[in-house]
Amino acid sequence: MLNKFSDTIYYLSNQDDRERPTLGLVCGNRYSLIIDSGNSPQHAKDFLREIEKLNVPPIKYVVITHAHWDHLLGVNEFDASVIVNSRTNEMIKEWQRLSYDDSSLQKYVTTNQMSAMCMKIIQTDMPNRDIFKLKSPDLIFENTLTLDLGNKVCILENIKSTHTDDSTIIYIPDEKVVFLGDCAYGTTTNSLFHYKQSLLLPMIKDIQKYDADMFLLGHESICDSNEMNIYWEELTTASQVVKSTSLENALESFKVENYRVPNDNELFFIKAFVNDHIIQSQ
Ligand SMILES: [Zn+2]
Repeated sequence: MLNKFSDTIYYLSNQDDRERPTLGLVCGNRYSLIIDSGNSPQHAKDFLREIEKLNVPPIKYVVITHAHWDHLLGVNEFDASVIVNSRTNEMIKEWQRLSYDDSSLQKYVTTNQMSAMCMKIIQTDMPNRDIFKLKSPDLIFENTLTLDLGNKVCILENIKSTHTDDSTIIYIPDEKVVFLGDCAYGTTTNSLFHYKQSLLLPMIKDIQKYDADMFLLGHESICDSNEMNIYWEELTTASQVVKSTSLENALESFKVENYRVPNDNELFFIKAFVNDHIIQSQ
C-alpha cells in the first residue's frame, strides 16, 4: 500500500528483507514523477499497481537517485522519460553490458561484481531475463535540473555524498520535502563499511541549503527534520574525533571532547570513519 504524505506526494515504504528501497511519487496538475524505479521489474510492477488505484496525472518522468541495482533494475517497466545525472548515466552503461542469465549472474557474484542478494532478487523477481537489457536514460543533466509537473516544481541536484559519487536528491519546495535516495549513508569498499569523511560536511551543507521539514531516505522511508538533525549531529560528532586509522585514539578524543562515551550510533559512525582512513591509506 502507498503511504500518502500529502495530496501530491506518495511513497512505497522500503522493505529490507527483499532489499527494496523507498519509491516516491510526486504529482503535479499535468504530470507525475517517479523517484527510483525499484530493485526489479516485479518491484516496479507492485508500485505501478498501487499507483493505478489513485487518480493521478500520467507518469512522465522517472528519476534514478543513483546507479545501485536496487534503485535501478525496475526501470524498464515505466513508459516514461528516465532522468539521471551524467555520473549515474556512465555507471548505468556497466549494468547494460551485463547478461542476466543464471550462469552469467553466478560469474558476476564469484568475481565480486554483484552481491549474492542482488543475484537472488534478480532470479526470483525477473523470470524472463535471458535477453533482458536495461533501458537507457532519456534525459541526462549536470549539477541541477528543475522540472514543473504543473503547479508542482521539483528541483533535482547531483550532490556530494558519503555513499556514492553520483547521488541525486529531489527537492519539492512547496511541500518542503527532500527525497535523499541513499546519499546520507555509508558504503562498502573492499569489505570495509565506511563513510567518505571528506564529503560529509559538504554533503550536509548541500542538503541543508534546502528549506525542508521532511526527508525520505532510501532504506528508512520518512524522517522529520528533528530526526535528520540528530543523525547529522551524531555523524559530525563522530567524524570530528577520527583523524587516523586508530580506533583507540578516536575513542580517547571523543571522551576528551565530549566528556562522555559515544552512544551506539556514534560508535558505529566512528568505526566507519576509521575504516575510511584505512581505505585511504591503502
Ligand atoms: Zn545505494
